[in-house]
Amino acid sequence: MTDKTAFIRDEVQALKDQGLYNTIRTIEGPQGAHLTVDGREVLNFCSNNYLGLANDARLVEAAKGALARYGVGPGAVRTIAGTMILHTELESALARFKGVDATISFQSGFVANLAVIPALVGAGDVIISDELNHASIVDGVRLAKAARKIYPHNDVAALRERLAEARAEGANRILTITDGVFSMDGDLAPLDRIVDAADEFDAMVMVDDAHGEGVVGRGGRGIVDHFGLHGRVDVEVGTMSKAFGAVGGYVAGSNELIEWLRQRGRPFLFSSAVTPPDVAACLAAVGILDASTELVDRLWSNAAVFKAMMTSYGFDLGSSDTPITPVMLGEEHLAREFSRRLLEDRAVFAQAISFPTVPRGKARIRVMISAAHSERDLEDGATAFAAVGRELGVVP
Ligand SMILES: *Cc1c(COP(=O)(O)O)cnc(C)c1O
Repeated sequence: MTDKTAFIRDEVQALKDQGLYNTIRTIEGPQGAHLTVDGREVLNFCSNNYLGLANDARLVEAAKGALARYGVGPGAVRTIAGTMILHTELESALARFKGVDATISFQSGFVANLAVIPALVGAGDVIISDELNHASIVDGVRLAKAARKIYPHNDVAALRERLAEARAEGANRILTITDGVFSMDGDLAPLDRIVDAADEFDAMVMVDDAHGEGVVGRGGRGIVDHFGLHGRVDVEVGTMSKAFGAVGGYVAGSNELIEWLRQRGRPFLFSSAVTPPDVAACLAAVGILDASTELVDRLWSNAAVFKAMMTSYGFDLGSSDTPITPVMLGEEHLAREFSRRLLEDRAVFAQAISFPTVPRGKARIRVMISAAHSERDLEDGATAFAAVGRELGVVP
């Protein structure tokens, strides 16, 4: 390291001093209810693998088949090397599943946000965004040359004020953006009221459904389906890396929107698509959700069982509307220590989440419940929480 980068050492030390340094564990096997970490089997409460599809035999077989048939790489960006039939099959399957005209796939959900926001608004336009929106929305907003207004979390009255301001200031187009499910608290956006407010001011509505699809709505069809808002939401962003178990992102909406993104979505034009085995796995996942609600139902019943046990032990679980279970602890160092003891003493892998991902003083351990967990797993997990909670004086 040269002296020019010496500041990094100080910055990293500052993170460690504040309890904000991320320790990244190495996983030595597939994702599932249990993981192998440092040669030891632990109960997994960390991943977004809501339905247990990340290592599902049907997805693995589909990926293998695609590998044999289409090879490993997409060759180049789709506008140059041509689009593989698998990508268009996935886009049609997703459109049917979501109940929209069309979808377009991207390399990830993060990239989908970077693609769609600057394609819809620019100079003279206004973006109105929830203060707790995901980092990829924040970055997509930064890439657009539109003016920005932020509203307090889920505060529709404040959103309406910003909409009125934007119109009074002579905005050309207005785009309101919200996460569907907020991943740190597990609460839902009041999308029905957001759409009503946006309609009053002729503003477009975009929702990022990354933690909603495969979880909320009929059979996991997402937040638009949950609220019965089909045809009233202009843009839905999704990911294939959470409930769908694989990797990739997409945008869902009208034929016009999707056609426009094929022309103006910069990550579509200038970055290669995900590989054939990835796409085949995604396609298999959509097929599984389309055919049965079994996994989604199990996810919700697992979450209800776990939350009931944790509440009876005296934990504060915040205000989640979904299987995301934040165990509220407050102080950053306490959350780190709690997570360390869970892993080292109780073989439970549950990550502490603290500033800047959540506000200072609102540190927590976020438990991600999955359909892959057995009843025994849930009991073992809650028992381990109770034991560490007593040691640290969090619960009686
Ligand atoms: C996880 C997440 C993303 C990113 O999805 P990837 O496919 O992992 O890039 C985008 N938006 C929200 C709201 C998310 O929770």
